[in-house]
Amino acid sequence: MAMKTREEYFESIRALKLPVYLLGEKVEDTVENPIIRPSLNSVGMTYEIAQKPEYEDLATAISHLSGKRINRFCHIHQSVDDLLKKPRLLRLMGRKTGTCFQRCAGLDAMNTLNAITFEMDAELGTEYHQRYLNFLRIVQEEDLVCDAALTDPKGDRSLSPSQQADPDLYLRVVKKDARGIVVRGCKAHQTGAVNSHWVAVTPTSAMKEEDKDYAVTFVTPTNTRGITYVYGRQSCDTRKLEAGSIDVGNAGFGGHEAYMIFDDVFIPWEHVLMCGEYRFSGRLVEIFANYHRASYGGCKSGMGDVLTGATALMADYNGTAKASHIKDKLQEMVHLNETCYACAIAAACEGSRHSSGGYLVNGLLANVAKLNITRNPIEMCRLAQDIAGAVIGTTPSEQDLAIPEIGDLLRKYLKGVAGVSAEVRMRCIRLIENITMGTGAVAFFTESIHGAGSPQAQKVMIQRYSNFEQKKEFARKIAGIKE
Ligand code: SF4
Ligand code: FE
Repeated sequence: MAMKTREEYFESIRALKLPVYLLGEKVEDTVENPIIRPSLNSVGMTYEIAQKPEYEDLATAISHLSGKRINRFCHIHQSVDDLLKKPRLLRLMGRKTGTCFQRCAGLDAMNTLNAITFEMDAELGTEYHQRYLNFLRIVQEEDLVCDAALTDPKGDRSLSPSQQADPDLYLRVVKKDARGIVVRGCKAHQTGAVNSHWVAVTPTSAMKEEDKDYAVTFVTPTNTRGITYVYGRQSCDTRKLEAGSIDVGNAGFGGHEAYMIFDDVFIPWEHVLMCGEYRFSGRLVEIFANYHRASYGGCKSGMGDVLTGATALMADYNGTAKASHIKDKLQEMVHLNETCYACAIAAACEGSRHSSGGYLVNGLLANVAKLNITRNPIEMCRLAQDIAGAVIGTTPSEQDLAIPEIGDLLRKYLKGVAGVSAEVRMRCIRLIENITMGTGAVAFFTESIHGAGSPQAQKVMIQRYSNFEQKKEFARKIAGIKE
């Protein structure tokens, strides 16, 4: 099958009929739901750009399995050039959607599984890699979205999975037989879960022997019996239910996260890619985290371009664009943003070939990229609100413009410079509000801190990847220290 069009993708998601709960109700049709739809549109953009000749080189790739042209979001990196094209593609996508387009976690998970199943087979003589390749063929052939499910609810964070009072707080194997396994648990904060065809489920951290029931990895269609989705709320989400298109800030696109509950779900052996091999769970998480931490340098810098643009527009509309401190703050936004991107590019440039034939990003640089992202986008939000002014928190609703006795008065008092209408200025205000503290802030603010691991996780990896003894030796030599 050729790559799907955007519309074919939408229909394929509708056909899944996923059991999704949102705002206290079961959703009839996730594709038409006004709260979910913008997030579907964002994934739809990954299909749309793959059809455009001008983006062919960036948005598509040649499959190493079939030799056919496929969407790059289904591709296993075959070179440093492939590694480099990912952040470039993600930045483009961030610019086009202004939010999270959800398809990269799956891309990073598929690349991780390519490497880890190969390593497991080489050491243990298992057949995981072949199972994985069978799955990958389906994803590439049918041009599917694969979600990546790592994060467990974790309960008491001071206790390991098997020490929890409730053993289901980390997803685990509860039964095994000749046909397959049965799993129970939950994966929290699942980006793009209800817009995906398949999901790759893996452990969230390194496991010890006593936790080996939790060292489980598998792939399964998202509509597998026993999986239920509960859609996460976002700040200002119900604005999408209101009339008009200004107050939502970003009317076309959005991201989403969901709780994915596995209530005794059967997984046949052909879809199981780790079952009890606890020694490999830490390595799996490390490979995934490196890929995904580097991914953030692409997507967040694309969103950062949108926020910087909106902020520069607000300076124009407010008549402050020529003030030297405003120029300085806009330059600072660019510096912060490009620092995020530069690290992602560097992590790709310094990538290396894995024994499976895939390519890995540089772990140290990927973690430096993400640690910057736990800070820089947040500082960009502060600068954007500083430049935009207090209107970010006080602007009346779009509905008020329609009130006969005050609509024109509001238009008069919400105006900035001559030649720019109050509506135009309000659109810009709402976009900045969206990205810095509305629905878009989940992608640009909260995810920047916690997505792909919270800041301390990056510090731990930076410590591990930094060869301090070697650095000391450099210093000893220069300083002439012999002992
Ligand atoms: Fe992709 Fe960024 Fe969303 Fe992660 S946060 S899925 S890297 S767009
Ligand atoms: Fe993410």
